[in-house]
Amino acid sequence: MSLIRADLESLPAYVPGRAVPGAIKLASNEVPLPPPPAVLAAIAEAAANANRYPDLAVSALTARLADALGVAAERIAVGCGSVSLCQQLVQITCRETSDEVMFAWRSFEAYPIVTQIGAATARTVPLTSDFRHDLDAMAAAVTPNTRLIFVCSPNNPTGTAVTRAEFERFLAAVGPDVLVALDEAYHEYVTDPDVVDGTTLLDAHPNLVVLRTFSKAYRLAGLRVGYAVGAPDVVLALRKVCSPFSVSSVAQAGAIAALDHAAELLASCAEVVSERTRVRDALLTAGYTVPPTQANFVWLPLGERSTAFATHCLERKVIVRPFAADGVRVTVSTPEENDAFLDAAASFAG
Ligand code: PMP
Repeated sequence: MSLIRADLESLPAYVPGRAVPGAIKLASNEVPLPPPPAVLAAIAEAAANANRYPDLAVSALTARLADALGVAAERIAVGCGSVSLCQQLVQITCRETSDEVMFAWRSFEAYPIVTQIGAATARTVPLTSDFRHDLDAMAAAVTPNTRLIFVCSPNNPTGTAVTRAEFERFLAAVGPDVLVALDEAYHEYVTDPDVVDGTTLLDAHPNLVVLRTFSKAYRLAGLRVGYAVGAPDVVLALRKVCSPFSVSSVAQAGAIAALDHAAELLASCAEVVSERTRVRDALLTAGYTVPPTQANFVWLPLGERSTAFATHCLERKVIVRPFAADGVRVTVSTPEENDAFLDAAASFAG
């Protein structure tokens, strides 16, 4: 007789991007630059009071986010990274094993994990042949058991994004009785004006919740801060299931300081965006298939050659992220780091 839930035996572990000393890490969609000095100073100041518990209600950061987004504070739940909020979304929607969580596949690898931790049932809908969400197929796959749908835009790992028109059509088809989570972790890198910004649809759709994070454009992946914006009842439920004090005082102070320096941080996203075009164009010229991307990474659908490609890059001290038999995701970084990757890609013969 095991002490542990039997169904956890098959739970896949979350696979973090590898780090190898001396190698260029393009495996986790991070920003290669440290936070600005003023943000580091705010973090150090908060660390000096680490003997005290953080603000349980995360009030100051929530108020700043509400202000920045132009929504009421009761519409924002801050969490220990948006991945925690994904897990909390399953907790607030699913109770029976028959309850279903739907998401496209391939998409963010945490979705199946948090679904299984929540003892719910995952329903996946394949991406289209051009690596985009098939929202019509997803809407058609909704059953009376569907409780939660994750839509990832831009999609990790393919970089493809959902347009406002197709997302509005999707929300209309799904109806008001299923919670739809639009995961916009890479929102700050979106340049296509047709791509949906979920926060503009919240008033019309109480069943929509938008996820954002400080881990990417705001350069605080190590501090673990994400947030959800949604209807007050959904937000209240998310706050209820949040582990108490899981957003540390250091994280709260760092995120507030990052918002103070948003202009500088967002300006450096523009550099990533221009490198994104350069990297994709170079890969296309070299003969690779690369779907258009709205994120800070590119996707190479190399199928069975994915692992060999990643090994080839690692031999050249560039760490990329392979998904076996499917594709390889590569973070867009500084021009020098991108050049090192492009050199490795150019010499791959597999
Ligand atoms: N959503 C997506 C689509 C992601 O790619 C990530 C990070 N890889 C997250 C959520 C989680 O981000 P965090 O927990 O660092 O906020």
